[in-house]
Amino acid sequence: MSSSIEISKPFITDKEIQAVVDVLQSRNLSQGPVVKEFEAKFAEYCGTKYAVAVNNGTASLHCLLYAHGIDEGDEVITTPFTFVATANSILMQRGKVVFADIEDTTFNLDPKSVESKVTKKTKAVMPVSLYGHIYDVPGINAVAKRAGVPVIEDAAQSVGSMYKNKMSGNVSESASFSLYATKNLTAGVGGIITTNSKKIMEKCKLFRHHGQDESKVYVYKEFGYNYRMMDMIAAMALVQLERINELTDVRRKNANLLTELLTDVPGLVLPTEAAGYKHVYHQYTVRVTPEFSATRDKLIEHLEKQDIHGKIFYPKPLHLYPHLQKFGYQKGDFPVAERLSQEVMSLPVHPLVTEKEIHKIAKVIRAF
Ligand SMILES: *Cc1c(COP(=O)(O)O)cnc(C)c1O
Repeated sequence: MSSSIEISKPFITDKEIQAVVDVLQSRNLSQGPVVKEFEAKFAEYCGTKYAVAVNNGTASLHCLLYAHGIDEGDEVITTPFTFVATANSILMQRGKVVFADIEDTTFNLDPKSVESKVTKKTKAVMPVSLYGHIYDVPGINAVAKRAGVPVIEDAAQSVGSMYKNKMSGNVSESASFSLYATKNLTAGVGGIITTNSKKIMEKCKLFRHHGQDESKVYVYKEFGYNYRMMDMIAAMALVQLERINELTDVRRKNANLLTELLTDVPGLVLPTEAAGYKHVYHQYTVRVTPEFSATRDKLIEHLEKQDIHGKIFYPKPLHLYPHLQKFGYQKGDFPVAERLSQEVMSLPVHPLVTEKEIHKIAKVIRAF
């Protein structure tokens, strides 16, 4: 009896467990020296000057929008093909969520569509590096530059991915990562910001701590939230950071093998890595097009029966959800995102999936 193949599974070793126990034994439960160490090592990993750790990846997006001065009515251009946190963080600052369409090759924002959405009120562009593939850096950064606004990368899914010689988190003004349970580098929960701007770093640090300077408590310089990370979380994240290259290599190996085994299946479009980019396969996402022998949902059902758990990220683009309808979006506004939401499904390639299981996944799909 073979065990079920999940879409994601945290890979935790004795080292992570010991690191958390060590913090518990130190009795230092709040934000302390371990968070500082994690920030330093994470910035070093991404190649940025600064990193600021917070309690989740939505909070880190929120900090960045605040730090970049996004305020009521300001427009932020982003993708409708993402997890809702991306858009919700804009709403947290009472900004206007302006969606643009995506490209069906990388699933990321289409620079031409972004350009067509720029107005005088545009204050930032927030691309998502979806599934572990960095957004179109030259394309998007050029549009933002012409508009005179910063790029804030939602890098929740792309830790370790690269564009040319730069890491995700270091290809824009600032970036936000998540350490949620399903993410490539996880501590169960958590978020971290990267930037080369001292001003953005300082603003984020104030915002996560009720506007207080770390050295001067009860001096509230400005309004803020309680977005601090616990040392226990940072301790686990530090061990995961030591292992991240190795974890990424296994994802890439699994993904490449799956691509090799699924090549030439009619109607099944496999993920690609654009020239100059390194994909870290947070998700291995295929498109089940009309030329495939069955519908996407039938394929998922079939895999499910063999205990292979594929999953749809994301079944409906964000502009079609009620709380974002106030911006006047309609069905048909973003045809590529809408079509892809009907075609995509992700297959397990996380580091606990074995080579034998990759062969099984390919065999089951081929036989269908
Ligand atoms: C996971 C994720 C987030 C939010 O991270 P949390 O840590 O769950 O708050 C934001 N954006 C994207 C694209 C994500 O995948």
